[in-house]
Amino acid sequence: MTTTDYDTLYIDGNWAKPTGTDTITVTSPSTETIIGSVPEGTDHDVDKAVDAARTEFEDPDGWAHYAPARRAEILERFADEVESRASRTAEAVSRQNGMPIQIANGFEAVFPALLLRYYAGLVKGSIDERRPAMFGGTTIVRREPVGVVAAIVPWNFPQALAFTKIAPALAAGCTVVMKPSPETVLDSYVMAEAAIAAGLPAGVLNIVPAGATVGAYLVAHPGVDKVAFTGSTAAGRNIAEVCGRLLRPVTLELGGKSAAVVLDDADLGSRLEQFFSATLLNNGQTCFLSTRVLAPRNRYTEIVDTISDFAKSLTVGDALDPNTQIGPMASEKQRDRVESYISKGVSDGARIITGGDRPADLDRGYFVSPTVFSNVDNGHTIAQEEIFGPVLAVIPYHDVDEAIRLANDSDYGLGGSVWSEDPQRALEVANRIRTGSIGINSYVNDPVSPFGGIKASGLGREMGPEGLAGFQQLKSVYQAP
Ligand code: NAD
Repeated sequence: MTTTDYDTLYIDGNWAKPTGTDTITVTSPSTETIIGSVPEGTDHDVDKAVDAARTEFEDPDGWAHYAPARRAEILERFADEVESRASRTAEAVSRQNGMPIQIANGFEAVFPALLLRYYAGLVKGSIDERRPAMFGGTTIVRREPVGVVAAIVPWNFPQALAFTKIAPALAAGCTVVMKPSPETVLDSYVMAEAAIAAGLPAGVLNIVPAGATVGAYLVAHPGVDKVAFTGSTAAGRNIAEVCGRLLRPVTLELGGKSAAVVLDDADLGSRLEQFFSATLLNNGQTCFLSTRVLAPRNRYTEIVDTISDFAKSLTVGDALDPNTQIGPMASEKQRDRVESYISKGVSDGARIITGGDRPADLDRGYFVSPTVFSNVDNGHTIAQEEIFGPVLAVIPYHDVDEAIRLANDSDYGLGGSVWSEDPQRALEVANRIRTGSIGINSYVNDPVSPFGGIKASGLGREMGPEGLAGFQQLKSVYQAP
């Protein structure tokens, strides 16, 4: 098997020689073989990248000062170039993190261009707002770019989560230094190729692949004006502390442990495809998944059976196989973590209905069988902590009030779903759940809708016009009459 190896970094509009000599080696979680390598970025590379982003941002003729329509035109070209590489991107993601290729083709290959075009469209005709002032004259309300953005991205949806930051930031007039996660670096080179082909001006986008230490250096860098982070709650808390001290704006998209509230009239059996997207997408390695399933006591056994029969029917295999529905965990470490949660579920008294082991027919790769637990108490660790694997906990409830209380009894508040044949009743339940987003009979993360969490799931919103606002600062210019 050939490997994909790079020896440069994308900084200041071109391929730059790295300042260090270490490399990041990427292993396929499907085959446990090495599939590529890139230079490991250092603090010095971050300095160079921030410097390039700062220089372009400060240039009076630079990106921040382009007419919005001119920026939009370049972003649309970037979208074209990204789109023409979509299948390479999807394959790179699948090979690195185990995302089933059909899901990578549906999300990772699609979101980048979609977001670039959406934000280009939002800013294209934008003009400063003018308000008649109460004390006479006019106030011009300007939406100015916040500055140099540090975009820090996890491995689970490396492209979609990068572009939920890059697209609105660039549309707003910011410049960006992006740090991908070490597990998923190869796809960022496809992104860089597209940026070069689109003619993105030097310094507008810079990419430094590296781990958490270099990430922390970037967060605290004096040349950075805003941090946009997606990742674990633990890392998010650290970053929030640093940004708090620096009074540096930050958005934090963190972990989740969302609830699927199955109402007593739900027909789950007819909605299994939607249920899959809401609970098991990307091998369970998706932040918004409803991994706590709340089921009415009078239908508990039947619902556990429906879900476990479905879980058992899923095709587990190599992420690049188009038939695969559940691929491997992204890394050995991630599989260990998922397996330790499964053991904890058993020792806490929950019952494995299906899964709980490694698939017998796969002798390599970091696979975990789709697992369904019954007899789960909402206080159990597997109901409270984010597992980030294909593990569902089905929890019984007496009535709707108890279901809502259980759904809200969580440190997190990111996603969630309600399942019912009565849309009005489902909406009333959805409205009572404390979370940043919730689906009815499905969960679709839509680019026009603000996405983000409450409580330990984060601060701020990405996507929608609100996602653009996160990269703009308001300035009032008072004009005398
Ligand atoms: P992680 O927090 O370990 O790492 C995420 C990224 O942050 C990586 O690029 C990492 O190198 C970097 N990083 C880690 N610590 C840092 C620090 N102190 N300073 C700067 N950078 C740092 O998370 P992960 O394991 O890669 O990703 C999984 C987590 O991401 C899960 O908890 C998941 O729920 C969360 N996530 C959230 C969302 C969302 O939108 N809310 C989306 C996807 C994933």
